[in-house]
Amino acid sequence: MPNPGLVLILNCGSSSLKFAALDPFSGEEYLSGQADALGSSGAVLNWRYCSEDNSQPLSPSDDCESVIGWLVERFDGTWLGLKARLLAIGHRVVHGGELFADSVLIDQQVLTAIRSCCELAPLHNPAALQGIQTALIAFPQVPQAAVFDTAFHQGMPDYAYLYALPYRLYQDHHIRRYGMHGSSHRYIAERSAELLGKPTTEANVISAHLGNGASIAAIKGGHSVDTSMGLTPLEGLVMGSRCGDLDPGLLLHLGESLDYSLAELEQLLNKESGLLGLSGLSNDCRELEEAMENGHEGARLALEVFCYRLAKYIAAYTVPLRRVSALAFTGGIGENSSWVRHRTISWLSALGYQLNQERNEATRFGAEGLISKAGTLDIFVIPTREDWVIARDAARLASEVR
Ligand code: ADP
Repeated sequence: MPNPGLVLILNCGSSSLKFAALDPFSGEEYLSGQADALGSSGAVLNWRYCSEDNSQPLSPSDDCESVIGWLVERFDGTWLGLKARLLAIGHRVVHGGELFADSVLIDQQVLTAIRSCCELAPLHNPAALQGIQTALIAFPQVPQAAVFDTAFHQGMPDYAYLYALPYRLYQDHHIRRYGMHGSSHRYIAERSAELLGKPTTEANVISAHLGNGASIAAIKGGHSVDTSMGLTPLEGLVMGSRCGDLDPGLLLHLGESLDYSLAELEQLLNKESGLLGLSGLSNDCRELEEAMENGHEGARLALEVFCYRLAKYIAAYTVPLRRVSALAFTGGIGENSSWVRHRTISWLSALGYQLNQERNEATRFGAEGLISKAGTLDIFVIPTREDWVIARDAARLASEVR
């Protein structure tokens, strides 16, 4: 049996750490897992290895360093095969600011540059940095790469990334739109082109990544030319508990008339809004669909706002693309909710989008394929593979130093 090389992917958040080991060439996953609620009494580690699911509680003092230490022990011991096969480690880093338009091998200069982007992602980048520094010590022989959520969107034109604020805020403080979910949108653009039978450079794709966080991107010939998230992941579509686009005057009103503090605003916009806030029930699309079927008015309203906003963005992205080759749905909601896809597309028939209802119903739970009516604009469902994109980048960069 062949013994392929593997890439370990690490995604360190403020209270979680996700990991996976996969073959960068075939995409086959050997290990995946997640430590959640780190720093609390409910901290837990779940993992899947050799098709077996496992779980163990963690102590409140465990942090990302402990989980990476746990990985090193397993790689050295019970999972002996893995360490010898490690080609590279790929770190998911949320914000690369304007400093990174591509993935890079990590060295001291890169660490300093990632640190300088911390003010743009104060919750995410420090956690990623901690993970990188720990992994550099834990796996000193293995080349390590940083793959940025923002990098794919760095080629957006200035008229798409600038806010209509005084230009000095951009010049002096880097305040502009950056976009996120870059690895997912990149994968969707490439996979859509494959499904269309065209080179990526000839496909104009609208990629709708709909998960707890949601964003949409207009991708022209493999390059992102616009996307819905901005300086932060709050802008754009309605999300699980994030509000998406708002009138900025509303924030002034909340502060001045209702005495919201900055901390309360942050909590409101990030944690209490979106599907959760509108429905008063849940941030979870599946739960809302069930509730809607049972007559819950808040659930219906939340899902309607979600689909209407999404449809408006899809229509708007005809502007930068001019000629759309395909629309693709991905992320937990995009891959699984035939209702959301149906409701969204029902707003867009004037633009040439129509669903094949049977295919729409059938293409869920990991299935991939075309769900549009013959002779209308192509609409795909594509399960995203962000980890695979990270693994491919890390393996490519590692091979360049060997
Ligand atoms: P994250 O952004 O956390 O990675 P995911 O991409 O996993 O999120 O997406 C989570 C969302 O996908 C949740 O709202 C969940 O309800 C939704 N989802 C998953 N399966 C289904 C389904 N069968 N029907 C509708 N929504 C679903």
